[in-house]
Amino acid sequence: MLNIVLFGPPGAGKGTQSERLIERYGLVHLSTGDIFRANIKGETELGVLAKSFMDEGKLVPDEVTINMLRTEVLKHENPKGFIFDGFPRTNAQAQALDILLEGLNAPITMMLALEVEESELKIRLMKRAESSGRVDDADPAIIENRIRVYNNETAPVKEFYMAQNKFKSIDGIGSIDGITQRLFETIEKD
Ligand code: AMP
Repeated sequence: MLNIVLFGPPGAGKGTQSERLIERYGLVHLSTGDIFRANIKGETELGVLAKSFMDEGKLVPDEVTINMLRTEVLKHENPKGFIFDGFPRTNAQAQALDILLEGLNAPITMMLALEVEESELKIRLMKRAESSGRVDDADPAIIENRIRVYNNETAPVKEFYMAQNKFKSIDGIGSIDGITQRLFETIEKD
């Protein structure tokens, strides 16, 4: 199985690039943010809980997120692989993912980390707000908060995969096609 963690700060292009990777490698796309948003739309109990954190740009608690992700992974029989988009966002999530995948005998193949500087992220998120309708994209204070949470809680997850020799840094600046090409090359030379 090809199991990829697509990593990066908010606005790095994880959603856009995930679509390209799914198409090329036939992977199952699991975006925790998308799953939470679907639950908010469906007004489920999980959605109501997640919304209170998401609207402020905070992380949904680990236990809730890990249980939800586990259920999603186990829904798929004989997948070619998974692309984890927006997960793991904490070391506890990364550990839980390893344990889950160990049980399936299908460890993470690599983490692909899209690197984009902060000033560019803010521009992209403000632009995305015009079409995404996302509350958390529209308010500069919430964007600041999401970037701060990323730097404090999420960026350290890189080290978790570095220690396993699975970390790959990808330049996330430039044309969408150019970035996709860099991702394909990195996956295929492994
Ligand atoms: P995203 O769509 O990945 O930008 O995620 C939007 C929001 O959903 C985040 O700001 C968090 O509030 C929440 N979220 C998504 N994935 C996670 C996760 N792995 N752990 C905790 N919260 C998450």
